[in-house]
Amino acid sequence: MDENLVTVYQIVKAVEHPPSPLKFRQYLERYLAELEWWPYGSDYEILSEVTTPYFDHFGPEDLEMNMPWKYLDIQGMNHTAFVHASTCFESVLHCWLYINLLFAPDDPSKKSRIELPQDKSAPIVILGAGVSGLLVANMLRDLGYEAVRLLEKTDRYGGKTHTVPEGFPRPQHEVKNTICELGTCYLSPAYDEMVKKFAQFTTDVGNKQVGFGGPTGNFRGIITKGQFSGKFPVPPVVSYPEYILLKAADETGMSPPIGPDRKKNAEALQERIADDLDAYCVEHERIMGRQKPMPLKPPDPFLHSKSARSFLDFLRSNDWESLVGLMQYGYSVQGYGPLDEIPAYYGLVWVTPDVARQIAREFRNPDGKDIVTAWSLGWSDVWYHMQRGMSITYNVDVISVYRAGVLDD
Ligand SMILES: Cc1cc2nc3c(=O)[nH]c(=O)nc-3n(C[C@H](O)[C@H](O)[C@H](O)COP(=O)(O)OP(=O)(O)OC[C@H]3O[C@@H](n4cnc5c(N)ncnc54)[C@H](O)[C@@H]3O)c2cc1C
Repeated sequence: MDENLVTVYQIVKAVEHPPSPLKFRQYLERYLAELEWWPYGSDYEILSEVTTPYFDHFGPEDLEMNMPWKYLDIQGMNHTAFVHASTCFESVLHCWLYINLLFAPDDPSKKSRIELPQDKSAPIVILGAGVSGLLVANMLRDLGYEAVRLLEKTDRYGGKTHTVPEGFPRPQHEVKNTICELGTCYLSPAYDEMVKKFAQFTTDVGNKQVGFGGPTGNFRGIITKGQFSGKFPVPPVVSYPEYILLKAADETGMSPPIGPDRKKNAEALQERIADDLDAYCVEHERIMGRQKPMPLKPPDPFLHSKSARSFLDFLRSNDWESLVGLMQYGYSVQGYGPLDEIPAYYGLVWVTPDVARQIAREFRNPDGKDIVTAWSLGWSDVWYHMQRGMSITYNVDVISVYRAGVLDD
């Protein structure tokens, strides 16, 4: 291959404050020089970089203080709704589910529903034209509100979505122009309902969900360095189904899927994974209930238990070590951080029984339907169509809010 285009994200552990683009560039250059599997040596050029505080979420202490539910309790007070990834989970899907929870357009009797003005011409201001701001503005437009205005700190809409469209195909033998996502990137079948709802901003205007592996035959490799205990040999790069089985063997002490008994061992591991996954789904429903994206009340005592500190603690305390590889993949493929860092609560918010079963299905049938997809024209194209006709004022850094003469911080 003469030329390739590579996008990299979340190469450092989660940091509260993102490095400057220059620092990030220096870090990337240092990192690439050390990587054994990086095939391009020093023959590369960094075209653009974006840094952002990634994955706004409450830490274990905040969760123990029930922070997400404290936000739920104040929703609608002072005629205000608080909608941001940190109130639910860092994904477009979760922002959308949370907005549906608060505005409940299809169910006026829903307990979580906040009161909206009777007068459809009442002025409504939204702070931030990022993902949640645009989704709320769109919801209010659907509900018939006519005087909605967005105030945005930067000179662009879309927030953490950073689609960089290349005007040509890379590598050159590809037929379509390349779209790089430096922010919001993937979808899964869990997004299907939302995608259907947004057809006018997506599929109807030529933006299609495209797959990465499966039928289109691309290889999604997992780098194994530093991930295994050394009990048995593991190749430096493995496919996703191989990774899940190897990791299950490493974690449980069961025989690895290698050597003459490869097939038999693989089957035993698959069976164990299937059993543990069933148990996970039952426990998930017991803890989280069916309300999406989160239960309306804190899932106590789970939230205060030691096993809830990290998703890895949670899996291990339930003897579901066979699921570590599967969850590591399902959780961190979108850059949501390692299992030992992320509170178990967020693991459960993201890996719902539906998602867990979809991942498992893909792992059993890697050539089947794609589970991980992206937009052929990028997420920015979705927001481009959605924001049309909205009133957005840019370069407004909102520092305080006055409501009917009351000053809030
Ligand atoms: C690298 C990366 C990969 C991701 N991958 C995925 C993915 O694969 N799938 C997925 O679903 N999600 C993904 N996400 C997450 C998704 O992008 C976020 O969940 C989503 O952007 C959160 O929306 P938000 O409105 O809460 O915040 P943002 O999108 O950050 O929007 C906040 C907006 O508010 C503005 N603002 C902030 N302060 C002020 C102020 N004082 N006054 C006025 N305006 C202000 C900001 O400028 C910004 O425009 C990814 C994110 C990143 C960074």
